[in-house]
Amino acid sequence: MINKKFVGAHVSASGGVFNAPKNAKEIGAKAFALFTKNQRQWKAKPLDSKTIDLFHKNLEDSSIEPKHILPHDSYLINLGHPEPQKRDKSLEAFIDEVNRCSLLGLDKLNFHPGSHLKKISEEECLDLIADSINKTLDVTKGVTLVIENTAGQGSNLGYKFEHLAYLIDKCEDKSRIGVCLDTAHLFGAGYDIRDEESYKKTMDEFDKIVGFEYLKGMHINDSKAKLGSRVDRHHSLGKGEIGLEAFRLIMNDERLEDIPLILETIDDTIWDKEIELLYSMCGECVQ
Ligand SMILES: [Zn+2]
Ligand SMILES: [Zn+2]
Repeated sequence: MINKKFVGAHVSASGGVFNAPKNAKEIGAKAFALFTKNQRQWKAKPLDSKTIDLFHKNLEDSSIEPKHILPHDSYLINLGHPEPQKRDKSLEAFIDEVNRCSLLGLDKLNFHPGSHLKKISEEECLDLIADSINKTLDVTKGVTLVIENTAGQGSNLGYKFEHLAYLIDKCEDKSRIGVCLDTAHLFGAGYDIRDEESYKKTMDEFDKIVGFEYLKGMHINDSKAKLGSRVDRHHSLGKGEIGLEAFRLIMNDERLEDIPLILETIDDTIWDKEIELLYSMCGECVQ
């Protein structure tokens, strides 16, 4: 069987979203992630037709397919915010982000579930997040909402597969919900993937609780933080606590074909080398 992996990185879109495909091409990426607006601000200028056209032109030049692009939402958004006004503000910004993806012809938006801020229970917060997801799906179309697992730092939810499964279960349109697994977050949350045995155990558990049919992408990061530390600190591949074997297993896992595999490692000057390294570890990869 031919193993098709699509590896890339979360590239810069500074200067305009149309720069992201160029930046991806430069590092030999076959996939990429981007912010479609400044991730640290609430408001953004709407995408004009010139920007959209240039994005498509550069995307065509890069030969990367829209399905291998995994946009990430703003860090400010908390769909499970315990305060209604702040939750509404997040919801409004989130819907805007989904619409920006639609305008760019992109079919996924990656987001972190949300945080209870120690003001409500985990379950109450998950219910609020599910409600925000359903409201968003009601007023948008064509974009799958991709929930990212977290390390569980602070009061962030999504650090257990059960949290992801709970949100999928409450989602009224299962055709537009998915998940993204971040390896550093998995590890921080206590899911070991460092050798064949632990990798198999973690992935089997994921399949049983969530299901690979919902996996729409992965973030490929080593971790400065220790197993189960509930700390979110990415590191370059092979330099952290996870080590290279996990990434070799990922590159040879047939269940991870045809989805974006995105580096969010800390040194963007070696992303080209990291992409090369990943492909070199893959037994049957066709680039
Ligand atoms: Zn993320
Ligand atoms: Zn991530």
